[in-house]
Amino acid sequence: MKPVIALIGRPNVGKSTLFNRLTRTRDALVADLPGLTRDRHYGEGRVGERPFLAIDTGGFEPVAKEGIMHEMAKQTKQAVAEADVIIFLVDGRQGLTPHDKTITDFLRKSGRSVMLVVNKAEGMRYTSVAADFYELGLGDPYVISSAHGDGVNDLVEEALNIA
Ligand code: GDP
Ligand code: MG
Repeated sequence: MKPVIALIGRPNVGKSTLFNRLTRTRDALVADLPGLTRDRHYGEGRVGERPFLAIDTGGFEPVAKEGIMHEMAKQTKQAVAEADVIIFLVDGRQGLTPHDKTITDFLRKSGRSVMLVVNKAEGMRYTSVAADFYELGLGDPYVISSAHGDGVNDLVEEALNIA
């Protein structure tokens, strides 16, 4: 079985941008993944010789005002359950938000391995971009730019070591 990496985070932090970079496709490869639900996006990636599956949880973004948190939790829970390791994305330009804290609590309860990843950090110094996020209690943040690719290979190698 290929290790499964789930991309989790509130809307607009860059999950799909990272997913597209990891899998280099916009089409989910669901055909050969029996048992996995279809409302999220699955893709295959590779770092060096090591293949993995990525799940983009974009599908849980709210479509209606009612039950937003409920729907998000349901979708996120499913992706988390299928994952060997969670990449929890936050936005280094926007900084920490209450929504990030809610997701942190949710992920902590799951008992899964979580990597806290600060995205959109191109051109920013590690110490200044990471500082905001220590209070989440998830350790030293990884800092990347999904759009530019900075730090993405190292991140995935580390994720596969944990998975
Ligand atoms: P999602 O809602 O979490 O899937 O986020 P998207 O991947 O759709 O990205 C949301 C917005 O953030 C888009 O406008 C992206 O172009 C932008 N974005 C994503 N990654 C980066 C990044 O590394 N740097 C910057 N500056 N913008 C980014
Ligand atoms: Mg998305």
